[in-house]
Amino acid sequence: ESLANQIAAGEVVERPASVVKELVENSIDAGSDKIIIKVEEAGLRLIEVTDNGSGIEKEDVAVALRRHATSKIKEAGDLFRIRTLGFRGEAIPSIASVSEFTIETSVSAEESGTKLVARGGEITTIEPLARRSGTKISVANLFYNTPARLKYIKSLQAELSHITDIVNRLSLAHPEISFTLVNEGREFLRTSGSGDLRQVIASVYGIATAKKMRLVEKSDLDFELTGYVSLPELSRANRNYITLLINGRFIKNFLLNRAILDGYGNRLMVGRFPIAVLSIHIDSKLADVNVHPTKQEVRLSKEKELMALISRGIEEAFLDG
Ligand code: ADP
Ligand code: MG
Repeated sequence: ESLANQIAAGEVVERPASVVKELVENSIDAGSDKIIIKVEEAGLRLIEVTDNGSGIEKEDVAVALRRHATSKIKEAGDLFRIRTLGFRGEAIPSIASVSEFTIETSVSAEESGTKLVARGGEITTIEPLARRSGTKISVANLFYNTPARLKYIKSLQAELSHITDIVNRLSLAHPEISFTLVNEGREFLRTSGSGDLRQVIASVYGIATAKKMRLVEKSDLDFELTGYVSLPELSRANRNYITLLINGRFIKNFLLNRAILDGYGNRLMVGRFPIAVLSIHIDSKLADVNVHPTKQEVRLSKEKELMALISRGIEEAFLDG
């Protein structure tokens, strides 16, 4: 079984940033409103995620390390009504199988919490812990037992920028959650959790940028679109500054990116991209997120309709100048 986990890890845990993403998404799923992420050596030495969410019950802690032990799907039909970010029960066992893994967690209804330590996916200790609220997961020495995977990581600088990228996007997706990212003891990002997206944009991209964003609000019977797009003068040479969310889930979609550019019309020069944070809410029946383990691609029904809505929403944001 631990081999199966390592194989799954090849898919789910591509790099340190994927670990950050999976752990933080679990914290979000657990209802946290404060999440602190600490990394050392671009996450290879340490990734630690602390949240104030629901915690894991004593009897479920060891279970979480088993494959497909998700607590989030009770029946097959739930797959089509996914509301939480995780649903496969693969992340924790995969990550644990390629690291030195520690969970400290407690739920408010129980008198004590639990501390579990595992190495290469094998549990070494489980012991009670004085109760605190929420969960802290540390992943140390990632890929220590999969040298091939470790070798594939070439630049710590690049890995760190993948991590900041993920945390930035997760904060933009959740203005109601306070995120802190600490790298080698230095604070890289802190958001307030006030719920105000413009404030998150200010934390991520700077106050001057946040002031040059236009509000986008547009909906029809199927879709509800809200967010901010930058004035054309803030355009960038690549599309990394476009954050697209569908039902709170960060996605990549070529056609929707094109719809954004169409909305700018000739305000943007060819080869330039805006800074944009656009959140789309749709009936989950119209989106299939169950496409790839990293869950960044979705299949959409009524894609043309959504493209038109996005373009029109952006056009209208610029109508008064
Ligand atoms: P999934 O998120 O797909 O359910 P994971 O492997 O990511 O699978 O997590 C396994 C289970 O561990 C989750 O279903 C959840 O019950 C529990 N869990 C993991 N992280 C947390 C956390 N930070 N707070 C509460 N429960 C958690
Ligand atoms: Mg998960």
